[in-house]
Amino acid sequence: MRRPIMAANWKMNKGVAETSAFAEAFLPLVSGASAEIVIAPPFTALASLASALAGSAVALAAQNTHAEASGAFTGEISPDMLKELGCRYTIVGHSERRTLFGESDEDVAAKALALLDRGIRPIVCVGESLADRESGKALEVVARQVQGSLAGFPTDRASDLVVAYEPIWAIGTGKTATPELAQEVHSAVREALTGAFGSGAEGIRIQYGGSVKPDNAAELMAQPDIDGALIGGASLAPESFAAIVHFDSGA
Ligand code: PEP
Repeated sequence: MRRPIMAANWKMNKGVAETSAFAEAFLPLVSGASAEIVIAPPFTALASLASALAGSAVALAAQNTHAEASGAFTGEISPDMLKELGCRYTIVGHSERRTLFGESDEDVAAKALALLDRGIRPIVCVGESLADRESGKALEVVARQVQGSLAGFPTDRASDLVVAYEPIWAIGTGKTATPELAQEVHSAVREALTGAFGSGAEGIRIQYGGSVKPDNAAELMAQPDIDGALIGGASLAPESFAAIVHFDSGA
C-alpha cells in the first residue's frame, strides 16, 4: 500500500512573511490528514518554514539542489545545506529546470544520488512536451527520462524515491491530463521503474502534476498508479492546497 504524497511546489513565489502567514492558516486545516504532505518554498523561506512546521507532520522540501557537496559554484546550494535546514525531500528535474536552465537527465541523476547520499528523498520529475505528445512519442520520452534520471540509483533505496509525472503542456496551463491519460503514462513509468528496480518498483510513489486542483484531485487519485500530486498554482492558497490534501474526504 503506497501512502499518498501531496507536495506543494511554490516555485519563485512567497517570501518569509507570506510563508509564515501560509503556515499559520494551513496547518490547522490539515491536522489528521491521511496523505503525506510536503511543502517546497523558495530557498530563502526554508529556514522560517522549518520553524513553522516543527512539531507538525508536514515535511519540508527544496525545489532544487547542486550535486556537489561544496565548492566554487556561485549561487548554488548543496544537499548538506538543505539537510541542515531540515529538508526531508527535494524536487529535482522539474521541467522548468530542464527547459529554462538546461538540465539533462544526467544532471538530474547526479542530483538525485547526491540527495540520497545525504538522507534526503528526491522527487524526480519527468514529463513530455506538447510536441512529444502530438507526435505519439510521450510514453517513449517519459520512459527514457525515467531511465536516464535514475541511472545509478541503488535498487535497495527504491522506497526513498518519489517520481513526479508532469506533462509540460499541463503545467500552469489549466489543462489537466484526463485521469485515463495520466494513468496510461503512470503505468508506463511503473514499467520503466520495474525495469530498473524489479519488485521494489511497486513501493515507489508516482505523483501526477499539471493543473491539479481541488475539483480534479479525487478522480486523478482514483487511478491505480497515481500515488499523489505535485501542485504548483493551487498550492499557493492554504484552502485549496488543504482541499487537495483531503481529496479522500468525499467532500
Ligand atoms: C508544477 O509546477 O509542478 C505544477 C504542476 O504546476 P501547476 O499545478 O500550476 O500546473
